[in-house]
Amino acid sequence: MKALILNQITNLAKNRSPLELVDLPVPIPKDREVLIKVSICGVCHTELDEIEGRTPPAKLPIVPGHQIVGRIEKQGKGAARFNTGDRVGVAWINSACGRCTYCTSGRENLCDDFRATGRDVDGGYAEYAVVPEAFAYAIPDVFTDAGAAPLLCAGAIGYRSLRLANLRDGQNIGLTGFGASAHLVLKMVKHQYPRAGIFVFSRTEKEREFALDLGAAWSGDTEDYSPEKLHAIIDTTPAWRPVYAAMKNLEKGGRLVINAIRKEDRDKEALLSLDYTRDLWMEKEIKSVANITRKDVEDFLTLAAAAPIIPEIEEYPLEEANRALLELKDRKIRGAKVLKVG
Ligand SMILES: [Zn+2]
Ligand SMILES: [Zn+2]
Repeated sequence: MKALILNQITNLAKNRSPLELVDLPVPIPKDREVLIKVSICGVCHTELDEIEGRTPPAKLPIVPGHQIVGRIEKQGKGAARFNTGDRVGVAWINSACGRCTYCTSGRENLCDDFRATGRDVDGGYAEYAVVPEAFAYAIPDVFTDAGAAPLLCAGAIGYRSLRLANLRDGQNIGLTGFGASAHLVLKMVKHQYPRAGIFVFSRTEKEREFALDLGAAWSGDTEDYSPEKLHAIIDTTPAWRPVYAAMKNLEKGGRLVINAIRKEDRDKEALLSLDYTRDLWMEKEIKSVANITRKDVEDFLTLAAAAPIIPEIEEYPLEEANRALLELKDRKIRGAKVLKVG
């Protein structure tokens, strides 16, 4: 099968084609696993963190990609949840131990043995992928394959971030960074909290305009003061300065949720500029969001189908995955990027 692999950790500023197109044997599903013929795989910022070693793959080479939509081609022994031919999705969570205190309390996203699709096991930048059947999801009919893929990470992690933000209808929410996940959060907020004010911060004019097109009340630069205080902010940037710059805009008791698996350390000294009285006093909080549970994905797919929440897509052929990743790195973004595989 055709597959794109990462052979070694590399620096995207120097290496403009980090993934290699190769021919690999089609994987064989083990007990309770399913083999999926991949139709679409979403492109996520986390792939950049894997390639550049901020969250290094458990093995190399690795096939990245964790927003997989395809159809079941073959079932391993004992697999019975789906039928051959069923359309399913695969998300970031590939498995968890199922026995620890986190797994047994609805927090499998925090499991010590959390294994991630496309980082700890091969993912969906390939014509076929295998996954434990318990970690696959039926895709609601309302979505096309390409429309469903970004929901599996950008959407699901956005959903978890929004839940952790504790927003109530009528309050203001800020989004700093406006890529795949944030644009889906904007759509979610409009559906779930129709009276909420949405304020978008971005370094790029293109993202600011895109936010207004989608119905944001205001958009401005990352450093700006928002015209109103914000009860919650979700940060999806890879940097620290936007976090520092956002804190002054938080309302008393407000919470900033960092939706990023890793931060780049280049501008970490920005945190030294945090002013306790202006930025943290009055019970302001900073919280991270880590991974997702299967329930997040299932609940979000149900919500997204009912709304419906349809992502804005930029589609690339599988062979052009490197270009998609570099454009993501360079913030040439309008919505969510997906690879057309089969
Ligand atoms: Zn992702
Ligand atoms: Zn566990």
